[in-house]
Amino acid sequence: MISASSSLSPICFSEQQIIGLLNGEQDEWLFANAQAVTQGVFDNQVFIRGIVEFSNHCRHNCHYCGLRSSNRQVERYRLSIDEILDAVDDIAQFGIGTVVLQSGDDWQYRAETIAELIRTIKARHNLAITLSLGDRKHQELKLWREAGADRYLLKMETFNKQLFDQCRPNANFDERLARLLYIQSLGYQTGSGVITDLPGMTDEILATDILRLYDLELDMLACGPFVAHAQTPFAQSPNGEVLKSHRVSAILRLMNPGANIPATSSLEVIELGARELGLMRGCNVVMPSFTPSQVYASYNIYPGKNTATSHIEQRLAAMFQQIQHHGLQPNCSRGDSRRYQYVSRY
Ligand code: SAH
Repeated sequence: MISASSSLSPICFSEQQIIGLLNGEQDEWLFANAQAVTQGVFDNQVFIRGIVEFSNHCRHNCHYCGLRSSNRQVERYRLSIDEILDAVDDIAQFGIGTVVLQSGDDWQYRAETIAELIRTIKARHNLAITLSLGDRKHQELKLWREAGADRYLLKMETFNKQLFDQCRPNANFDERLARLLYIQSLGYQTGSGVITDLPGMTDEILATDILRLYDLELDMLACGPFVAHAQTPFAQSPNGEVLKSHRVSAILRLMNPGANIPATSSLEVIELGARELGLMRGCNVVMPSFTPSQVYASYNIYPGKNTATSHIEQRLAAMFQQIQHHGLQPNCSRGDSRRYQYVSRY
């Protein structure tokens, strides 16, 4: 039995303890404590990020992802800089304090083009900018940081090299990890994470992944369940379990009290209401999509992603209502990482 934590200090679980928790041995304890810590750190506030998924072209060929380069059935799109800026204007108009720019690994956008985009956004709006552009060169990451980007999200998906290689052919594990460390050294608020129940994932691997994420002292931690996509080699694999992803977010919260942890849309795809339930189990961030309607549905990383037909205003209102339904408050401020406030391990 793990004793209840009364403080907001990080808990450093052992690998065996994590495996036990992933097994569901102490769900009641785990979820109650994760909720208490989330509440203690964020005071019932849920940070809202506006995400613009500006291109679904990708040079990678990941076995789990619908945007993989060999999927010929996806309608590819690339937003122009003006179209991206229009979406960012919408986010600012809603009073949301963070824009997340995400895409497939699309090198058609040159480093200087992205840098200019960052400068323009910063000149127009008081917004935090999170980048999630995949595997780009070190000098590009540096240029974007200097241009004013605040945060970078690069999920390892797993820290197990063998499993990584099985899922991401042609991607380079060591380079991705080195890139993540370099991003952190540049002063970005840095995020990484895992896909739970990725085909081939075991609780032992997942426990090690959680420990690696802890060791990295990250500002943002993302976990979401695997969702099988018909046009991928993993089409026949079973979808991930909501409960497993919730256990991971709860464990991550206890180990990293001040980190931002999004409740992912993949939770919602598997089970209606699972994303908001995640907010009671360690998560404190949601990321509504502001991708323009004409391409919105084509950002089809997994089935069910971006399938809502309603306008962003209605989607946002519904999301806020669900958040409030759980006794939480949507919060549109920048919502920077609070990692440094809860760092007794240093
Ligand atoms: N190209 C960028 C952004 C990737 S898309 C990069 O590589 O960093 C954002 C995230 O979607 C991925 O990091 C992955 O964790 C998640 N994802 C992709 N396919 C998925 C699937 N089938 N099920 C669940 N999550 C998936």
